[in-house]
Amino acid sequence: MTSLLRPFILATTFVFTLFLSAVFCASGSAQLTTGWKAHDADRPQPNVVTPADKPGGAPSDAVVLFDGTDMSKWRSKDGNDAKWKIVDGAMESVPRSGFVFSREEFGDCQLHVEFASPKKVKGSGQGRGNSGVFLMGEFEVQVLDSFNNRTYPDGSAGAVYGQYPPLVNASRGPGQWQTYDIIFRRPRFDAEGKVSKNAQLTVLHNGILVQNAVLALGPTGWIQHKTYDSIKGKTKGPISLQDHGNPVRYRNIWVRPLVEERQLPATPYDPVKIDLDQEVAAKLVGKYGAHKVEQKNKKLFLLFHGHSPLEMIPHSAAEYGFKKSAGQVTFTMDDQGNPTGIELKLDAARPIKANRQ
Ligand code: MG
Repeated sequence: MTSLLRPFILATTFVFTLFLSAVFCASGSAQLTTGWKAHDADRPQPNVVTPADKPGGAPSDAVVLFDGTDMSKWRSKDGNDAKWKIVDGAMESVPRSGFVFSREEFGDCQLHVEFASPKKVKGSGQGRGNSGVFLMGEFEVQVLDSFNNRTYPDGSAGAVYGQYPPLVNASRGPGQWQTYDIIFRRPRFDAEGKVSKNAQLTVLHNGILVQNAVLALGPTGWIQHKTYDSIKGKTKGPISLQDHGNPVRYRNIWVRPLVEERQLPATPYDPVKIDLDQEVAAKLVGKYGAHKVEQKNKKLFLLFHGHSPLEMIPHSAAEYGFKKSAGQVTFTMDDQGNPTGIELKLDAARPIKANRQ
């Protein structure tokens, strides 16, 4: 590079970096909303799921696809029984018998799989302990004996095959049992069947994060990934396991279908808002037990136990709420409209009452 060119390239790189920073800052600043008020007591309670007795076991709401005893939950490509064999409580890929597919199909899900590559090391690169776990039958999380076995990074164990190498190589040695815990969000399609949101994968390999919410470019494939057009409108598919000619074993396979969309309130939060009457507001200012009401810049604020001020949004002269929160403040008044006390409902706990001091 000539010395004349160097400052020009540096300056161009600097400007481009500034541009990228601006783009990312702008896109990261969008205001998110849950659709619910904070601490809304009407929000549905989380379902109770009982965890397994031991780490890695199937929780109470999981669909167990393989528990070591039979392969009835699996089929071959043609729909007939799966042709893999059960060996010592594991299902083992029989070379050239084909992929196996779960009979039940899934979209968004959490998947737990345990696998072991053959103890006896044979082959190298992609030829050693190769298999794969496919979500929706389309998106492969690569299974490979990647213990001291160099290959192309986006084809090593824990890779979203051909697209994203794992963040780290978390492989155990040949023959040792390993785990994948996968969180999968299926692709979304618009009314025309065009992809509106790519499939998303998060993968833990032996408890170590190797894929962090990556967006699949399309269904995975060798050399070239496919486009979403090839699975237009598809919302479900089987979990499938690859036969790549190596006797890889699997055990303890369970899956939890995930809720597809967050539940929104039946009626959106839209409180009756009125302008704050400054004279009324001035009367409310004061101490109420351990709490304080302040007026500042033509707004009212509650200092709950001296916490940072919470802006009070007037619903009526005596009733106030907080921005995007279920919290409520109600004043009790005497005949002259002077406050005598306050009632605070800040969350699902019992209301707090305090007299004016
Ligand atoms: Mg594979």
